[in-house]
Parts: sequence; structure tokens; C-alpha cells
Amino acid sequence: MSSQSQEQYQFIESILQQNLGEIGSIQDFQFFYGGNFNLAVRVKLKQGEYFIKWNQGDHEGLFPAEAKNLALIASTSTVPVPQVLGVGQLDEKEYLMMECIPTAEKKDNYWSDFGQKLAQLHHSSSKKGHGLDYDNFIGAAKQVNQWNQNGVNFFIQNRIKAQVDTALYHRRIDGDTNDAFEILYEKIPSIIPNETSALLHGDLWSGNAMVNQHGLVSLVDPSCYYGLREAEIAFTTMFGGFEKEFYEAYNESFPITKGFHERIPLYNLYPLMVHVNLFGEGYLPAVRKILDSYVG
Ligand code: ADP
Repeated sequence: MSSQSQEQYQFIESILQQNLGEIGSIQDFQFFYGGNFNLAVRVKLKQGEYFIKWNQGDHEGLFPAEAKNLALIASTSTVPVPQVLGVGQLDEKEYLMMECIPTAEKKDNYWSDFGQKLAQLHHSSSKKGHGLDYDNFIGAAKQVNQWNQNGVNFFIQNRIKAQVDTALYHRRIDGDTNDAFEILYEKIPSIIPNETSALLHGDLWSGNAMVNQHGLVSLVDPSCYYGLREAEIAFTTMFGGFEKEFYEAYNESFPITKGFHERIPLYNLYPLMVHVNLFGEGYLPAVRKILDSYVG
């Protein structure tokens, strides 16, 4: 084992001991490099299997927020999520320890079951409107979740404009693009329907949907908030991978308002701008294309 791996091994052992007490020996482990900045490991002990992810301590508050997100989804008893077992700091790094999802073959009804469960999650609403009691992250990007009774205004201010302002500040977009966004903000309320808030996973791409031991969905890595559920369904189409049974079952359980397909590009300006801020300007042509179609 290289000295770097040995260090990581000891780090993992210490986290397990911090949260489980006496652990015996590690039987097996497998590293993941899932996200762009977190490291993760699946680790097997005699008493069970665990999943731990950590970062270099450079995203303060990210894992405590993720732990709250997971607990919030779990509290709805709708879509399963892994149980959080520990969140903390060690050697100036931050970590999140949770139950490991043992994977299995997808059951035939995986997609329709997923669609129904997501619809049930979306039936959880908040009297406070759109937002959340705490800020959290999408990937490494901060999500400000200040409550707003108007979902469309929340979407404009706290989602699109927040990312556009960050991109402008860091000169990832130019003044012309910002001007086009300013015009778009005025138009959005006549395009997007203002619905009751729904509890969203918030980062629902196929990489965050796992197949659990029952052959059914478990969701990981949430970036929750109470928001417009159409934004969540639009998100699933951005990188694809969701089968038509998923959409059919969702729509049967919780019908989507007519005209949704035309609104998808507008909703996806949010994840696209997050990508511009996190991964660079390669995502800008896609943003410009959507802007041009609305603003000209
Ligand atoms: P990041 O926040 O770094 O993107 P994720 O939470 O998305 O990390 O995890 C990366 C990958 O690790 C996921 O795509 C999934 O394959 C796997 N994974 C995540 N959580 C668990 C878990 N609780 N049990 C087993 N595998 C998991």
C-alpha cells in the first residue's frame, strides 16, 4: 500500500471508530471518485457496510447541509435515501458517513415505482412557500434558500439570478449575456406557472439515482428545497437516462401542467449556469442558445 493509501486507510478507520466505537478489522473497501471534489469509499466491516465521503475541508457546511437534506427526504417516507450515521471533521477534512446502499438488479417496475415515489415526495409542500430553513449546496455551488411565497420569483431570484450574478462577478459571462438575462427575468412570470411548493431532491440526474437491494430506487446526494416540481422533472431530461415509464407513472400520480415540454429549457438554465460556474464556459453556448430563443 502506498503511503498515501495508508494515510487514507487510517483516516477511514478513525471515522468509523468515531461513529461506531470498536470496529474490528476492515474486511474490504472500494474508493469512488464520484464528484469533482469529494472522495468516497464503500467500506465493509463484520457488522455491516458503510459509505463515507469527505473533502479537504474547503466547503464548510456542505456535509452538514447534505445530512439535513437526507434527513428531510427520509422524514417524508417517500423515496428511500441512505440513513446518515455521522457527520463531522477529522484532520481538517469534513466527512459524511452513511448507510451503504447494496446494489442489485433493477426490478421490472423500477422506473414506474421511481416515478410514483417522486410524485409522493413532491406532494410534500411547505406553508412557508418556496425555499428552505437553511442554505445548502448543489455540487460545490451554494444554494441560497431564502423563503418566498411566490415560486416563480424564488426561481428567478434564488436560482437563475444567483448563478448569473456569480458568473458575472467572476467574468464567466459578459455584460450582453447579463442584459439578456435581465430581459428574460421580466418574461419568465408569463411563461412559468406559479405552483404550490414541492419538496425537491434538487439534483436529480441519473448518477444520483441508485438501485437498492430491493431492485428499486434509492436517491443520493440531494440538494433539497421546496420549489417548483417542474424544475425537478426538467432536470431529469438534461443528461437523460430516465425511461419513459418514469415520466408516465409520475404524470399519472401527479399530472404536470400542459405546455411543460416548452418550458424545460427555461428550467434547465439553472443547472446549466451552475455548470458554467463550477466547470467553466464550455456550457455557455447552450445557455446562449436558450437565451436567444426567448430574448432574441
Ligand atoms: P459527490 O457528492 O461527490 O458527487 P455522490 O454522493 O454523488 O458524491 O456519490 C458518488 C457515487 O457514489 C454515487 O454516484 C453512487 O454511485 C455512490 N454512492 C453514493 N452514496 C452511496 C451510498 N450511500 N451507498 C453506496 N454508494 C453510494
